[in-house]
Amino acid sequence: MGLKLFNTMTRRLEEFTPLIAGKAGLYTCGPTVYNYAHIGNFRAYVFEDILRRTLTFCGYAVTQIMNLTDVDDKTIRDSQAAGMELNDFTKKYKDAFFEDLAALRIEPAEVYPAATDHIPQMILLIQQLIDKGYGYLGEDGCVYFSIDKYSDYGKLARIDKEGQRSGTRVNTDEYGKEAVADFALWKKWTPADGNVAWESPWGKGRPGWHIECSAMSMTYLGEHFDIHTGGVDNMFPHHEDEIAQSECATGECFVNYWLHNAHLIVNGQKMSKSAGNFFTIRDLLEKGYNGREIRWLLMSAHYRQKLNFTFDGLDAGRTVLRRIDEFTRRLKEAATEPTVGIDVATALDGACREQFEQKISDDLNTPEALAVFFDFMRDTNKALDEGRIAGDAATILLDCCRRLDTILGVFDVDVEEVVPQAILDRVEARQAARKARDFAAADSIRDELKSQGWVIEDTPKGARVHRAID
Ligand code: AMP
Ligand code: ZN
Repeated sequence: MGLKLFNTMTRRLEEFTPLIAGKAGLYTCGPTVYNYAHIGNFRAYVFEDILRRTLTFCGYAVTQIMNLTDVDDKTIRDSQAAGMELNDFTKKYKDAFFEDLAALRIEPAEVYPAATDHIPQMILLIQQLIDKGYGYLGEDGCVYFSIDKYSDYGKLARIDKEGQRSGTRVNTDEYGKEAVADFALWKKWTPADGNVAWESPWGKGRPGWHIECSAMSMTYLGEHFDIHTGGVDNMFPHHEDEIAQSECATGECFVNYWLHNAHLIVNGQKMSKSAGNFFTIRDLLEKGYNGREIRWLLMSAHYRQKLNFTFDGLDAGRTVLRRIDEFTRRLKEAATEPTVGIDVATALDGACREQFEQKISDDLNTPEALAVFFDFMRDTNKALDEGRIAGDAATILLDCCRRLDTILGVFDVDVEEVVPQAILDRVEARQAARKARDFAAADSIRDELKSQGWVIEDTPKGARVHRAID
């Protein structure tokens, strides 16, 4: 399957061609571990997971690197406010991050390098930049990158060169396009940094945020690699500065494909910690949602379209997932019967696979790929209603769902629904009432279960209970 990706660098859809046949190197900017990541951040990580799974589906051996920013302005500030050592403080949020990734069924990256474990690589890179004339030591003791020395500066974010303020400097990790300036590679220690400092040829200090990702990506993927991703807010200055540092140090192209996801928004505003309009995974789990439902919501829009977060959206996803569960349950039941309709199943399977692959390979078009699946589900349900599919034919269609799910990671084809014992006991009681021909009591138990979200179905094999769809 050929894969087309929208490359931010060229602003065009391009066929993915790896540097090394059969392999894909992927760097995904990871979390700054100063707090719990919010679901806006997880929109980025779910998009990257779909990308990773799609690359694997296409037959590439993927090496994904996701960094953990465990030293920067924010981690230092908040560890001090908490009265904790930096490492103890960030460990709590690193652990939480991995729990959240698992809840969202995000496949693990090959390596999660932490910035504090790669300071020597960062120092080496900064030294190379100084040796080549791109880095300089300012009178404030910090080392800066001189954007005037690099004529391609601004090529990713397409910054108007006229707007560049030659000779000005910025030493905070985050700044906007209006503050384009020489940026800090190494920050001299100040009392505000407490005991967070490393020795370097330029004295005691710490790395700037942008050099962290240049050093860690090149350590694991080489000086020139395939794909680099992040949210659109990372494009400038973070990725622009990464390109400048890396290309000036190595003299090589840094990355072939740059991919950026649009934001998760709330009432028209980017979800962010600073705006205070955010939910963490934990917040939503406490409200009774599960990771699967959150994943569904985050992947239901195309990654380059803004996605508005609402609880109605989460609830709608829950309903759809229950329909899908009911669908795969029906197929599994049908699979135990004598075979009918191999030709019907083969046709349904072929059409679904082909169209699904076409949509997903078109810049990871998840909403349209899901629409293909919904058509497949509708047609298959109809064929099941009409008794046109059973036995091995149903197995073919279950395998189709499993195959799609290697990319979507959201079906529960091989997970049995767990019905609480208390509910099973009530089903037994209803059966007993029916046997005693006390139909009023039996109906009242049915209603009672319905009010708790469970439906009893009387089948030739006996009563079966499952979750209500709505
Ligand atoms: P940070 O921890 O702030 O560096 O962000 C981690 C990742 O989440 C980056 O790729 C950001 O671009 C991305 N991100 C942050 N906020 C949002 C949002 N509201 N929607 C989508 N992605 C986001
Ligand atoms: Zn980064």
